[in-house]
Amino acid sequence: MNPFLNVFAVSSLLGLSAFQTSPTPSAAAPKTVRVAQGEVGRWAGNCRRCSLEKRAWPAVNGTCYYPIDMEMKAGSYTISRRTTGGKLETAQLIVTEKPCRPEDFPDFPKKEYINVSPENQKRAAREAAEVKPLIGYQTRVRPAVFDLPIGKPANPLPKGEGNFGACRTFNGQARDRHTGQDYPLAESKSVLSVANGRVVLAANQFYSGNAVYIDHGNGLISEYFHLKSFSVKPNQTVEKGQEIGRVGQTGRVTGPHLHFGVRWHGACINPGFLLIDPADLPEVK
Ligand SMILES: [Zn+2]
Repeated sequence: MNPFLNVFAVSSLLGLSAFQTSPTPSAAAPKTVRVAQGEVGRWAGNCRRCSLEKRAWPAVNGTCYYPIDMEMKAGSYTISRRTTGGKLETAQLIVTEKPCRPEDFPDFPKKEYINVSPENQKRAAREAAEVKPLIGYQTRVRPAVFDLPIGKPANPLPKGEGNFGACRTFNGQARDRHTGQDYPLAESKSVLSVANGRVVLAANQFYSGNAVYIDHGNGLISEYFHLKSFSVKPNQTVEKGQEIGRVGQTGRVTGPHLHFGVRWHGACINPGFLLIDPADLPEVK
């Protein structure tokens, strides 16, 4: 029997409307969602605007998403949503710790990335300063031109290396955590935009090599690094699945692969969570 019809049948027997059969949650049991560092929580249904502590952004097709930076401190935070009907609801977000996996490169071949010259240090600092405002949190964002799940950055997409967020050492020297997921793809394979968007940067950078950054609206930026070449330029509009470049081994790499990363509302998150069915993301309940 169709369970939906069954609810109506039972409700009418009890003289209730079908949608008043479950008790409303009491004030003693606030809504909660547990999300690990680098993952994404969601609050589905008729959402218009969402907030996490002092930061706020629009919903995407009626759902609030709460991307959690891989380095956000574990603990309890307040999130809220404004519904399309104007109702404001709050919930508790519990950020749990996700220990970083160590990843060591004991004999890194490109020595200029181990003992970085003053010129290259200056260059890398300049590039980081250029990228920072593009990938950081913004109080006003372009409307979303994507929905979840996003598309794959290559087709077929092999299994990732599982090295998102890895704590890395190069020849024994500790470096910044890994901000994306690496995919083992052969040199010259097509790299695809994961959603409609606008290229915000396409340039050769010291660490990232040939790099493309695409803004998909709603504060979601995708990053594709170490490309052999790219075929887009800043301000260019791209479509989901469009080729933007080719897999290469430029920048700080040991061999050809695709580095794919995403920033959402300034949070560095594991891009794998945007490739799965959003119904499988931890949900506010
Ligand atoms: Zn990488």
